[in-house]
This record gives sequence, structure tokens and C-alpha cells, in this order.
Amino acid sequence: MRQLIVIIFTLLILIGCSSQKTEVVKMGNKDSDLLEIQNFSDTKKPKNIILAIADGAGLNHITVSRLAIGGPNHKLYIDQLPINGTSTTHAYENLITDSAAAATAWATGNKTKNRYLSLDKDKKNLTTIFEMLDKKGYLKGIVATSSVTHATPAAFYAHIDSRYKEKEIAKQLLNSSVDIALGGGQEFFNLEQASKTHYLMTQKAALEKNYDGLKKIVGLFDEDGMERGPDMPTQREMTNYALDYLNDKCNGFFLMTEGSQIDWAGHSNDIDYMIREFKDLDLTIKDLINFVSNNKETLLLITADHETGGLRLMKQKDDSFEVQWGTGSHTGEPVSVYAYGPGSQNFNGIMDNTDIFYKILEILDYQNLTNSSCD
Ligand SMILES: [Zn+2]
Repeated sequence: MRQLIVIIFTLLILIGCSSQKTEVVKMGNKDSDLLEIQNFSDTKKPKNIILAIADGAGLNHITVSRLAIGGPNHKLYIDQLPINGTSTTHAYENLITDSAAAATAWATGNKTKNRYLSLDKDKKNLTTIFEMLDKKGYLKGIVATSSVTHATPAAFYAHIDSRYKEKEIAKQLLNSSVDIALGGGQEFFNLEQASKTHYLMTQKAALEKNYDGLKKIVGLFDEDGMERGPDMPTQREMTNYALDYLNDKCNGFFLMTEGSQIDWAGHSNDIDYMIREFKDLDLTIKDLINFVSNNKETLLLITADHETGGLRLMKQKDDSFEVQWGTGSHTGEPVSVYAYGPGSQNFNGIMDNTDIFYKILEILDYQNLTNSSCD
């Protein structure tokens, strides 16, 4: 009898293991494109903040992308950021966060329940960093390859007890202080209404022209999340447009730009999809590094809300390597934080995702910023 139980257990474990999907990836072979990285003195404060999010990317997503793009000695653009720390990601009463609670941590400095957007655990409104900086004459922008109403971008402007109420989130976006929002999500908006209050873009071609009118901008390039294709702008293209619009006006800007679908590729355990999405983020980072080097008043931060997929690098097979997915969900692994620009030294070492909010306020010397408006 005992032997039978042992056999059944062993079989169950084997079945469990075999459900962990394995994929083989071809190793890349490419020289690194090394960018010029500057030193910034410890005392210099930034005026602008760029927060780039690699949704769902743990260290192994970056490792696998590096190997696939250029091989083990290759340096991605993300690898070239001079400061590196580690962030814990747990949500309120849940070790495994979702994007809503994680983005609420960055946007407000508070832990909340999964699915809540900038509400505390008792559903009380939390003030977001966008709302705080709006009072100081800052411009605010969001870019995402998901819908602009998806959890990560939404935490910066919406207050709602479910990230899935995307039509209501869309209304809150149009009533918020966000100056430019680019991504997908047409199906959640009343486009006629949106075009009354905002300069509305729905085609990639619109990004080729500069907009110098007075309205805020909302660019909705797909029904929901953005399907890749020649007619669809990349994260890199949207981010550059947003930077152009935000830079050198008012007292400063805060731009959040998200590679949203790295997470979706993790949920579907699809390594090619993951690498494709990571490439767009990495090229975005290339342009952001160069922006910081030239601009000299901008702090660039890159982090992830959580790891997705329990991705592991298993073994080399000639000029390929094997990876294994452990889950179709998020995991509780800590994630990296990368920084470049004035104030970047503060992001060394281990921190919590809520600390990122407080560190940004401290670096901007928020308490001493004067009240003003940007109209
Ligand atoms: Zn996810």
C-alpha cells in the first residue's frame, strides 16, 4: 500500500513537472552598441523624471533577451545603466502583486490590494505623484503598449477599486491632469467626447507631425493592447514623441513609459513574443539614455512591477539554450531597478517598490518646489 502511494506521488510530481513548458532559443551573436555614459555629481538634482517599466520582466527575462539578441558577452542597452538596485514587490496582504498594486506603490508610496488603483486597502483615495507634480507646474505623460487604461498607466491618474473597469478608467483619464497619453484602448473611450477635450490621434502617421495646440493629447492606436505591425507605432516611437512634447516646457515633466506586453508573453509562456517585446523596450532605453546624457536634468529609472512566468535558464545546447517556464502567473521574485542621471545614486541597494515614490520626491526636493501651474 505504501509503495503504491509513493508511486502515485511520484507520478503526480512528474505530471506537474512536465506541465512546465520548455522552449529552445537560438543564441544571438552581435557586437554591443556601447553608449556614452556620463557622471553626474551627487549633489545635482534632476528636474525631470522618466520611469520606464518592463512589465513582468525579472532578471531572467533580461538574461534570455541578452543571450538571444547578442550572446553571453553582449551588453543590452539596459545593461549599460550605471546604477543598479533591487526592489521587493509584494502587495498589501499578498506576496504576489499584480500590476495595479505595484503601480499604486510607485504612484502613491502605498501598498494596496491587488486590482485597486491608487486607492488604499479601505478604498480611500491616495494622492498620486502626477497630482502632486501638477500643482508644481509639471507636465505628465504616459506611454504603454497595452491600452492606456491598463493597470500600470492607470495607477498614475485613476482612483478605482477594480483595474477591469476600463471604461470608467478612460473617463477618469480624460478628466485627469495627464497631458499626453499614448497607447492602445480605443474601445474603452467615447472617441467623439475625447476629441472635444483632447487632441485625439488614432493613426501612427499623426506621430510624424508635431502638435503645438493647447489641448492635451490622447493617442489611441489600437482597440485594446497594441498588435505589432508596420502601421502600429512602437514603444520607442511613442516615447520619443512624448518626450518631444514634454521637454523644455513648464517646470519639468514626469513620463511613465511601459513595455506592457513583456508580461503578456510571460502569461502565455511564449519566449519569442517576450524577446520581441523586450527588444522594443531596450531600443526605447537606448533613446532614453541618450536623452539623459544630452539633457543633463533628467533622472531615468527602469524597473518592473513583478516577474511573470517563473522563467528559468536551464542548459546550453550547442548554439541554442533551453528555458523553462514555471507558471502562467506572476511570481514573488524581487526585480531590478536601474538608474541613470542626476539623483541616480539613491537607487543603489535593496528597496521596496513603495520606496521608489519617496526617493523620487526627495530627489526632486518636492517640499521646496513652489506651487505653480503650467497653463
Ligand atoms: Zn501580468
